[in-house]
Amino acid sequence: MARQKTHDYQNLQVVACICRIKETPKVCEYLNKAFGLARMTYNLALAEYNGYFKEFKTRIETNTGKKYKEVKDEYKEKHGKAYFKKLKEEYGVIPKLSDINKKYRATELAKTTDKNGNQRGYVTEVTCNALETGLANLQTAFKNFYAGTGKLPTFKKVSHKSFSFDPRHIKFDRKNQRLFIQFDKKRLGKVEVYNKLRFDFLKLTNVTFSRKGSRYYVSIAGYINEPKTETKELSKEEIAKLPQPDENEVLGIDLGCKTSVYCSDGTELNCFDLVKGNAKKLARLQRKAARQYQKGKKRFEQSRGWKETQKKVGNLHAAIQRERKRWREEVTRGIAAKYDVVCVETLKIRNITKRRKRKKNEKTGREQSRRNPISKSFLNVAPYAFVKALKHYCKQVRQIGQYEPSSKTCSVCGHKQDMPLNKREFKCGKCGAVFNRDYNAAINIKKMGLDNPAKVFYNERQCRGSIGESGD
Ligand SMILES: [Zn+2]
Repeated sequence: MARQKTHDYQNLQVVACICRIKETPKVCEYLNKAFGLARMTYNLALAEYNGYFKEFKTRIETNTGKKYKEVKDEYKEKHGKAYFKKLKEEYGVIPKLSDINKKYRATELAKTTDKNGNQRGYVTEVTCNALETGLANLQTAFKNFYAGTGKLPTFKKVSHKSFSFDPRHIKFDRKNQRLFIQFDKKRLGKVEVYNKLRFDFLKLTNVTFSRKGSRYYVSIAGYINEPKTETKELSKEEIAKLPQPDENEVLGIDLGCKTSVYCSDGTELNCFDLVKGNAKKLARLQRKAARQYQKGKKRFEQSRGWKETQKKVGNLHAAIQRERKRWREEVTRGIAAKYDVVCVETLKIRNITKRRKRKKNEKTGREQSRRNPISKSFLNVAPYAFVKALKHYCKQVRQIGQYEPSSKTCSVCGHKQDMPLNKREFKCGKCGAVFNRDYNAAINIKKMGLDNPAKVFYNERQCRGSIGESGD
């Protein structure tokens, strides 16, 4: 990697691209080990720190005679985001995380024993880099927590399979546009990847390894030689100053459950057929896994057949995810190429997919809550990711307010009427116009977005990279 000191990195664009790693048994074994050990050290350090935090809490409770939560709320009201700092000033100090972290460095950790009484010599089998970046992440997580911008860190689950890495050990073959990850030369040697790098990186900022199903990926982030651009949320004054766009250049989008994406120019885009076949396969596999599951046994004690099926389930989940993403990227890029301004609704996804109220089931006689029947098909679109992608690719994304009655209003005369979810057609009670429900909503969203947007996201760039692009 050529390092040119002439660049002012602060003003340069940071992009990332994901490459799939060639899965040789040696590489897989090594990475799996690293994933596990990175998680282990992270959790150990967090557990010790949580112990100190508990002591700190009881100290406050005995001193004040109040519950910790009450004291916390009081301090939050008084001091705002810096409440934790004040708490620490008054009720004694917690040991510094950086001091705790020192105990969990690979060389120190190797001298200790685990709960089975075995020496933890195995921690030194992978690069200490993997373990230390995890600890550094924990430190920043706590820093955010103290500053009031983040939540208290939680333990990483077994399903967490990634670790970050110091980018200094990555070798880039410019001539062949190939990347070689040369870390831990003795034990691992070269790690090759399938794809070419899409960017000409000047300097790498972060390298992260991850695993999805049985595929292994490396995500490489770094500076490229282009001015920095970001999607910005405009303030109210800036919105007022924006020139009114030409109506033909604006698109309204309704995300729905019957049709994934309904545009105000009449196009319907569906992603259900893509996922349908795989969903059936998934159900079949999961039934099989349920038959093979032995009750009372722990995960690692289960039969080999069950483990094999679980592996297949994981791979299928990953395949479905890839399929959805490919569809999303294609659709949002297509929209961004045609239209400069896109209007969408503000979705409260949690509210839409919430379970329904408890009701007595007549068959079983038990009280049960029911899943919202539309939530599955709605989540298939991945609404949050879809809007995020739109914000990334389009020049201007206008979001209308959360409570705007987009599907209840007539798009011709503005008459409002109730529209229960099962009604697929909008028949206006005043002017008699008949529309498809989602089409009507899309037109309304476009109008509302033009007249009175709640939020506007603006981004002045020719988009090249994509968010979280996978190298399949
Ligand atoms: Zn009407």
